[in-house]
Amino acid sequence: MNPAFQSAEQIQLPSDQNISGRTLGTEEIEMVTQALQSGTLTSTRGTFVKQFEQRFAEMMGVDHCWCASSGTAALHTAYAALDPEPGDEFVTTSITDMGALTPILYQTAVPVFADVDSDTCNVTAETIERVLSPRTKAIIVTHLFGNPCDMGPIMELARSREIPVIEDCAQAFLATQNGRLIGTFGDIGCFSLQQGKHITTGEGGMVVTNDADLSRRMFLFINKAWGYGDEKPDHYFIAPNYRMNDITGAVALAQLNKLETSVNHRVQMADLLTEKLQGIDGLKTPKISDGSVHTYWKYCLNVDGDKVPGGAVGLAKVLREDYGIFSAPRYIQKPAFQCQIFRDKVTFGKSQFPFTEARPEAVDYSPENFPGSFAGLEGILVMPWNEAYTEEHVNYIAHAIRNSLQQPGEYN
Ligand SMILES: *Cc1c(COP(=O)(O)O)cnc(C)c1O
Repeated sequence: MNPAFQSAEQIQLPSDQNISGRTLGTEEIEMVTQALQSGTLTSTRGTFVKQFEQRFAEMMGVDHCWCASSGTAALHTAYAALDPEPGDEFVTTSITDMGALTPILYQTAVPVFADVDSDTCNVTAETIERVLSPRTKAIIVTHLFGNPCDMGPIMELARSREIPVIEDCAQAFLATQNGRLIGTFGDIGCFSLQQGKHITTGEGGMVVTNDADLSRRMFLFINKAWGYGDEKPDHYFIAPNYRMNDITGAVALAQLNKLETSVNHRVQMADLLTEKLQGIDGLKTPKISDGSVHTYWKYCLNVDGDKVPGGAVGLAKVLREDYGIFSAPRYIQKPAFQCQIFRDKVTFGKSQFPFTEARPEAVDYSPENFPGSFAGLEGILVMPWNEAYTEEHVNYIAHAIRNSLQQPGEYN
């Protein structure tokens, strides 16, 4: 590489995979100690998960919150609350975490993929409307990277067809649109506390809702459908044990106190990076709709392969090799429907159930149906991001990106 652009020394960025990029500290240790000393580690008897559920509901301004053992479990709980018939359709996005998809199949429903806006990789009212059918049981809206989907038109569409909306907010803690918290637009909001999310307990998740019936069904689903507190309790329907334990609840409670500060800092540093990356030919900073607050689970760039040699993959290679910055071109690499589970319909034994119940159009994964998804993944470069980033880190990233792009050919 051209020595004129050599950085004096590489800076190691904080990582959300260890303590360098996480806010875990004495508060969590104190809470966990209390939980252990109480000797009650199940949330059915303990106090920590219960306190956390109450506090998170208050923070979200909703009536009900239940914890689950993961974000995947939380999403499964939300899907199960709608009690789909085999072959019912859940409209979802082609660009998401697999944990948002497999529970649809476990619940015997069929995921129907909506295309996305290639700039944000988010679904829109238009892409959703194209795949609605009389069998649509629910619409799942994923606020990718913390950038809110345009909820006005989506909710208008859903309400006009009387289809419930589940918001996947695993990447979008405290994001807002027109002053309203993401996760409170739809019927159910789902969150994750996995290692790499805004706050973490290693694994964990939550569902929130204002609907008392859905809340009741979700509580039961998490608890083997055992009617705790009922006069004549029974196991009412098929359901797993998805409970969070009280040690995890203790960590969650301590983490919750840090959420707002972490989110604000992530946003502040992201805004700074956006400022520093203005005016670079071939590079787009995050597109945020009017009235939205993006809370930056990750900071994503959009790289124009016609202007940047090697496109997102090429830029990522220089950032890694010359600057030690590990970004992720193509995010999940391919749209979800190209993963083996969907390609070969690998579900229960050799049955291919519940795909066997699906309308052929619902499982038509022809690439021409998904131009936004392919274009979006082609251009996307996901920068690592967390609440420990300082101005120095942001300067370093901006410097690395600018220098990399001033040397076309070097990384062709
Ligand atoms: C992380 C994530 C999930 C799954 O959460 P886990 O806690 O890892 O099970 C689901 N959806 C999205 C969008 C995610 O980012």
